[in-house]
Amino acid sequence: MTLKYGVVAALFLMQTLASPGIKPAGDVPNLSKRYFMIKPDGSGTKGKPWPEAKVQWCLDGVGSEGDEYEKLLQLVKDSWKLWQDAVAPYSSLQFEPSKSHGKPVCDDKDKDGEVLHIEFGGEQGSWADLGYAGKGQEHVLHLSPTATAALCAHELGHVFGLEHEHQKPAAWQEDSDESYSDTFPFRFYCANLADYDALKDRSDIADLCKDYNAATAAGFSAANWLPFRPSPRNYEIDAFVDLDSIMMYSSTSGSKNGKPVYLKQDESEISENEKPSMGDIRAIARLYPK
Ligand SMILES: [Zn+2]
Repeated sequence: MTLKYGVVAALFLMQTLASPGIKPAGDVPNLSKRYFMIKPDGSGTKGKPWPEAKVQWCLDGVGSEGDEYEKLLQLVKDSWKLWQDAVAPYSSLQFEPSKSHGKPVCDDKDKDGEVLHIEFGGEQGSWADLGYAGKGQEHVLHLSPTATAALCAHELGHVFGLEHEHQKPAAWQEDSDESYSDTFPFRFYCANLADYDALKDRSDIADLCKDYNAATAAGFSAANWLPFRPSPRNYEIDAFVDLDSIMMYSSTSGSKNGKPVYLKQDESEISENEKPSMGDIRAIARLYPK
């Protein structure tokens, strides 16, 4: 089964794509603590780390020249740059074009499931398959035409094996003990979701707005916000919530009207993170150590 992440377009403002400004500052990051991600040892069934820490990719459906091709190629390069500079000191992760014809354009040889196909366009927002699914499986990164480098970098986080930071159960609790709770320390404004109106007359709408499994079954975008209890067989998780993670949505992501979909409990907004956090870098270092 492929996991799709229905993130709507324009999640992040386009900002400078210069150096991400991660400063190790002489401290070796704490690599023991990390995150919400696939199992580093490859034992999970929801996605594995890419073999030999290498993701090969090709561009699909945009030809091999012209504006759309150039735009997508630049977007992919800019978004990888956000990761590359940050993880290079700690991780062996590589992200390289598959060059069948000297250009990173998908062809028949790239259809064996070993190569990430990067698509562009359509009305489906942006999403990516989680991690490496195995030989012969499809690996897709789909980008909205309005995607920014920061949004593409978020989707690359999924490709590498990271889940949404805001969907950790701990992110929805008053404190960070690991017991699950139905209380929502994030304030969730479900009715502002883009697809809420299409479902609002259902008798189970209250459940759809608070239960991850119900939202998933209904194909409701709330499933991209609500916490879920990850199987420890498939995920590595900790109780710390990293609000600086590029795997967080901003407050207005996915909104139908520009109003917040979720806020912190004190009603302050969750900002747009435009580069990987040190926590994100630690996660990559755990999945793809040097
Ligand atoms: Zn996502």
